[in-house]
Amino acid sequence: MKVYLNPGHDLDYDPGAVNPINGLKEANIASKIGKLVEKYLNAVGIETKMRQSDNLYYDSGYADRKIAVVQEANDWNADIFVSIHCNASGTGRARGTEQEIYSFGGDSELLANCIQSQIVSSLNTIDRGVKEYPGLIVLKHTSMPAVLIETAFIDNSEDAYLLENATDEFARAIARGITDYQCEIL
Ligand SMILES: [Zn+2]
Repeated sequence: MKVYLNPGHDLDYDPGAVNPINGLKEANIASKIGKLVEKYLNAVGIETKMRQSDNLYYDSGYADRKIAVVQEANDWNADIFVSIHCNASGTGRARGTEQEIYSFGGDSELLANCIQSQIVSSLNTIDRGVKEYPGLIVLKHTSMPAVLIETAFIDNSEDAYLLENATDEFARAIARGITDYQCEIL
């Protein structure tokens, strides 16, 4: 199985959501989790390609950054596409984990359920479920099952603590969710 990993946002151009108290940046957390997920998947023989960039699609307006994430995943014929993000509510009160997919009823939903249950059971985060977000570029233009993981809320103090201190557990849970999916579809 070929897994395309896309840590959200961009280390140079777009930090994503930022915790207003400690300055924790979504792009940095996503990068750390992504590298660990890649390590765990490679360790069990799963092929990966990973890119973190705000250049998502050829019409994104960032054509100067040459390689667009979704185009690369499609050209590589990835079996699944996994985008890694942190959520933010703006109030600091919302907490928990959710998965975002293009639409219910297919392998994207199966993949999302596998990842969701691994994260929620191992990190004990609030289960916000799987939701449809058909407008998201990485879900709309990918030609394979795709999920956008909202690991936890970076602007909530308890969730932010987990993101900073249990980074490895998030990565292990995501990797296990992907291998659970692989078992389901074989
Ligand atoms: Zn994000």
